[in-house]
Amino acid sequence: MKTNRKLHKLLIRNVGHSVLRSLTDEFPVLRRVDELDQVYHLPREELLSRQWEKLRKVVKAAYESCPYYTELLDGIGMKPGDIKTPADYARIPFLTKAVIRKRAKDMLARGADTSKLVESGTAGTTDMPITFYRTREVGQEKWAQTASFNRWYGWDVGDPVAFLWGAAMDIYKPMSLRGRVKKFLINQDVLLPTVPLTEQELAHHWKTLERFAPRVIQGYPVPLYLLARHVKEAGGRLDLPDLAAIVATAEPLYDYQRELVEEMFPCKVYDRYGARETGLISQECAAERALHINTEGVYLEIIADGRPAEEGETGEVIVTDLHNTTMPFLRYQLGDVAALSTRACSCGSGLPIMHSITGRVGDLVVLPNGVVVPGFWFPARLVKYVPNAVEQLQVIQEEPLRFTIKYVPGANFSRNDMAKMQEMFVILFGKEPRADWVVVDDIPRDRSGKTRVCISKVSADFLGVKPE
Ligand SMILES: [Zn+2]
Repeated sequence: MKTNRKLHKLLIRNVGHSVLRSLTDEFPVLRRVDELDQVYHLPREELLSRQWEKLRKVVKAAYESCPYYTELLDGIGMKPGDIKTPADYARIPFLTKAVIRKRAKDMLARGADTSKLVESGTAGTTDMPITFYRTREVGQEKWAQTASFNRWYGWDVGDPVAFLWGAAMDIYKPMSLRGRVKKFLINQDVLLPTVPLTEQELAHHWKTLERFAPRVIQGYPVPLYLLARHVKEAGGRLDLPDLAAIVATAEPLYDYQRELVEEMFPCKVYDRYGARETGLISQECAAERALHINTEGVYLEIIADGRPAEEGETGEVIVTDLHNTTMPFLRYQLGDVAALSTRACSCGSGLPIMHSITGRVGDLVVLPNGVVVPGFWFPARLVKYVPNAVEQLQVIQEEPLRFTIKYVPGANFSRNDMAKMQEMFVILFGKEPRADWVVVDDIPRDRSGKTRVCISKVSADFLGVKPE
């Protein structure tokens, strides 16, 4: 590991990023990151007009090529050319996950060959998972946008990153030699799995981090918090001289988490908001920790009571992907809650600002044997072998060893599906915990407008915090 790290530093840091520059013909995406740096520095007006033009193009392509969108716009008597203002655009009905599950095929551009596309899926953090497609080029553009945002924190392409992440299978796939070379040069990283997460695992991650000496740590807030607490309780400190930033992602970042992580780690924690379907949506700047919206990648609306929210008013996040014309996501209901601001930020970025994502709620499942798992990880895994069996599902940890699992069965739900889910429950939780399966008509949303996929009545005690 040490030799590898030294060699890497020599290549990337000392020889400089010129090594990477010389590879820009091989990897044009690297040049794209530099271009995007320029774009993101444009004044707000220009950024917004670029965003609007991209939006019009995506809508036009969706209408002309995808049966679902042709039908949708015809249904409300609208042509893409009629869209002159944000209010016009807001007449298009939301795209929900239920629609995607039902109409995925019709959302694809006519003649699209899925075998030549990149298939991707959501992890099912807030709902049942969905599958979607995009071209390799769109994936690369998303990657470049993220890489440009990474630079806000002194994190450049090629810098070593540690991921405090869900599960190994979410990141690593078998790689070709070319893939491995590319990874060594532009994606130096180490994965610290957080499923499951025990004190033993945390101690191991602590050592691994110090040996790996990352420039950046990216992770879920809960494991970051648990790691900080582990180090504090051990009376130790984290020796990470190269660490420039911690990027928290995928779940809401609460103040108590941020405070402890910043107390124990030698750098600031920044929040990043994104979705697999759309890529990076917004991230905090270093100056004010304002969440700046990625106007190159998405068009974002906040809707309150069925109308565009006023400035500062909380509403539902509706997002449009500005690149994917193979399977477009127009006015996609993410299930999150936020507010918009038009104020300027002292960091100088013209990218507009959003506030307070309060929607993404996922509790921890804490088992008596010390295993801790972010609860949102479970629902998608429970239905892994019966992908279309249930519409909605919610895991409730009532007591350390007693769970209630509410589910809305799909039209073709069978006894066999039930048996498979129970089997999966035992694989995930072990033989000891008991599960009561309860059929319901609907899983109601909580006050924030979010469906909670996991509620633990045990985890607040474990974390030593009041439930939010
Ligand atoms: Zn800012």
